Amino acid sequence: MKEKGRTIMIGLDGVPYRLLNDLAQKGVMPNVRRIIADGFFRPLASTIPEVSSVAWSSIITGKNPGEHGIFGFTDIPPHTYRLSFPNFNSLKAEPFWHGNEGRAVIMNVPSTFPAKEMNGVHISGFVSLDLMRSVYPQSLLPQLKAMNYQIDVDSAKAHKSMQLFLKNLEQTLEARINVYQYLWEREKWQTFMLVFTGTDRLMHFLWDAYEDESHRYHADFVKHFCRIDDEIGMMLSQLKPNDSFLLMSDHGFERLDKNVYVNAVLRQAGFLCIPGDSDSNFGQLNEKTCAFSLDPARIYIHKKDKYPRGRIKKNEIEKLIQEIAAVFQSLEIDGKPVCKRIYRKEEIYSGPYSADAPDLVLIGNEGINFHSSLKATTVHDRGIFTGKHTHYDAFLLVKDWAGTDTFCHNLDVGQILDIVNYLKVGKVNIHEKEYA
Ligand SMILES: [Zn+2]
Repeated sequence: MKEKGRTIMIGLDGVPYRLLNDLAQKGVMPNVRRIIADGFFRPLASTIPEVSSVAWSSIITGKNPGEHGIFGFTDIPPHTYRLSFPNFNSLKAEPFWHGNEGRAVIMNVPSTFPAKEMNGVHISGFVSLDLMRSVYPQSLLPQLKAMNYQIDVDSAKAHKSMQLFLKNLEQTLEARINVYQYLWEREKWQTFMLVFTGTDRLMHFLWDAYEDESHRYHADFVKHFCRIDDEIGMMLSQLKPNDSFLLMSDHGFERLDKNVYVNAVLRQAGFLCIPGDSDSNFGQLNEKTCAFSLDPARIYIHKKDKYPRGRIKKNEIEKLIQEIAAVFQSLEIDGKPVCKRIYRKEEIYSGPYSADAPDLVLIGNEGINFHSSLKATTVHDRGIFTGKHTHYDAFLLVKDWAGTDTFCHNLDVGQILDIVNYLKVGKVNIHEKEYA
């Protein structure tokens, strides 16, 4: 049992268990390798859907989306057709640091914009609309500007030139490192949470460079992880005996073979009745539409009592859900089924906000990346990205694990806080969750 130790939680956005293990064993991440040797290292399931806004919201609250109310980067509030962008104000459960006794530094956690008053320092992660509202306390703003702090990598650069993107990725990482070191040394803190988010951007654009050692950007890919490992080593060297150190990711990654457009499939099957072109928007949803989808693959029934022009009555919902599920179940591209799993909301969400949840969520098969752009004119294509998110391959790595292993099977990202708590007080309630 540990007392008075500090807690350090370091996030690596999107980094899969397998990749971290591979880079550790190859010597690219020697400090991570050291932690693995005596630590607790497990694959974790992400949230459904496996996107950062949902998964980090579960990590920082310990709740499922039915309890914290974040189901994606976008939403359409009931009784409207307005595409909204949930942010930190939309989070319906408390992040752990609001109930924390000591001071905390919370840096670059996705979907925590705008920054809120707290006992400590908070710098929001993506999606953040401006740096000004991303910083608490505001007195830190001049320092951040002086250090050229950027919340996110400018991914638009990758569409022009991969070299420009890599340069921006490196500058963003270096500024993030400078700022975290500044806060680490100057602030008094009991909890330090920092998320490195450039990893997700890098893997989207250059997953192929990871897999192919002869790829012209392979060395750049490896260098990014090597640089992060250096900083992990720096943190390890400054730990005190009772400190807890955890590394984690919010979802996994793998090679992307095909983008599959969910709304285009719904349109082709006659469930969605608006044209797919560059002007398409959700305001055009008409009485003929039975269902529509929001990114990445959240399907909503166009219910009569939920949407202004909704037509599906309560007694028609079940049959429709079965018909839509059957369409995606049988959908194949190049002879391969596109869906690994199709979840109904009752299977995956519980809590007071479950009514806002999508009716169906699709999990893509290997290589299949779902999108829900209304503008897509084809069912599938092959875009600029070479990597895509996965549900089953996030990770948790805890340094110096002396705990029991028995409760630690089939973990998901929503249970990381239970482990943090276990490290602090030697008690855990995972049993109840796991067998509930
Ligand atoms: Zn991503």
